[in-house]
Amino acid sequence: MISQECYELGSKSSIIREIFSFGLQRKAEVGADRVYDFSLGNPSIPAPDSVKRAVLRLMEEPAETIHAYSPAPGDGKVRGIIADSLNRRFGESFTAENIFMTCGAAASISICIKALGNPGDEFITFAPFFPEYRCWVEGIGAELKVVQPHLPDFQIDMKALEGMITPKTKGIIVNSPNNPSGVVYTAESLRELAGLLRRKSQEYGEPVYLISDEPYREIVYDGVEVPYLTNDYDDTLVCYSYSKSLSLPGERIGYIVIPSRLKDYKKVFPAIAGAARVLGYVCAPALFQQVAAECVEDTGDISAYQQNRDLLMGGLEGLGYECVPPQGAFYLFVKALEEDAYAFCERAKKYDLLLVPSDDFGCPGYVRIAYCVAEETIVHSMPAFRKLMAEYR
Ligand code: PLP
Repeated sequence: MISQECYELGSKSSIIREIFSFGLQRKAEVGADRVYDFSLGNPSIPAPDSVKRAVLRLMEEPAETIHAYSPAPGDGKVRGIIADSLNRRFGESFTAENIFMTCGAAASISICIKALGNPGDEFITFAPFFPEYRCWVEGIGAELKVVQPHLPDFQIDMKALEGMITPKTKGIIVNSPNNPSGVVYTAESLRELAGLLRRKSQEYGEPVYLISDEPYREIVYDGVEVPYLTNDYDDTLVCYSYSKSLSLPGERIGYIVIPSRLKDYKKVFPAIAGAARVLGYVCAPALFQQVAAECVEDTGDISAYQQNRDLLMGGLEGLGYECVPPQGAFYLFVKALEEDAYAFCERAKKYDLLLVPSDDFGCPGYVRIAYCVAEETIVHSMPAFRKLMAEYR
């Protein structure tokens, strides 16, 4: 008998992948320019030139070093460069010993969950949330509890959170800028969150860890600040990725920050290494560890996303759609025009508009529109959005 849990996870693809596959089929039938595919969060802007220059330069180095296994936590020099950059940007005092290189945010979060949790434990997150959290939490035999958002601003509902924390709560997973709402949690609400977790940790005599999932940290608009959570709360693990900031999602490179201030740093760091080992990661991609160090503070041209956001939100609001104003990431969260967001997305497909229903993000009644697309896709999609709206008038 094979694993029923894995069989079920692997035999149904995610709704996002299903819609994306449908889009590929439609593009083959009617032409790519007639399909408005807003399903996937694949960065649409190229990686900065510095990435190409770094790769080309690194290819001149001896193959036996550049392609070799690195130590499990990553190359010491790379980890030091990343720590220095975080110290400069966020007033921290990290060293290489606080950085663990990983294969992107997905690896970082799943490693943290595996390292901290035991079967029967609980992790809490805030809707709308990245659906893979559920696989990673349930994969270790723990339970994922979901706090519904404070409306209409989609900030954290602190009262609801407080009511959900129990002595079994190992960690709180927070994602800001948020996929799929685009919301950035305010400094005030994060300080309140930190205060609540300090009180609960003291009450239970065990830390309630904060796991900060931050692949969109650099993708913010209108000068919005994304607070660095280790500044507010000692028992924070930061899960970072270069997938979005450097447009490198296929290269699988990121890191975990494990601050020395963690109450159990001496145990947590080895547990992170142990979790990465159990999950079979061995080490993060060696070439892209070096690239990350060379491009440590670079990003692609994020202004293109801001232009897309303004164009899409302006267009949709003009047609009468109700949007959650995104301050970051590259997703627009829009109220579905009927209660059942699946049915709404099915109807949108008639116009070759590919939108993702919000149910799997734990927040029914909305759709996610990924605007990491060419500007023309947004411009050309507007008549389709108009026809869709007309069906409900
Ligand atoms: N967390 C969130 C909120 C995401 O949106 C994504 C990817 O889209 C990930 C984690 C995984 O990112 P990575 O490619 O770094 O594994």
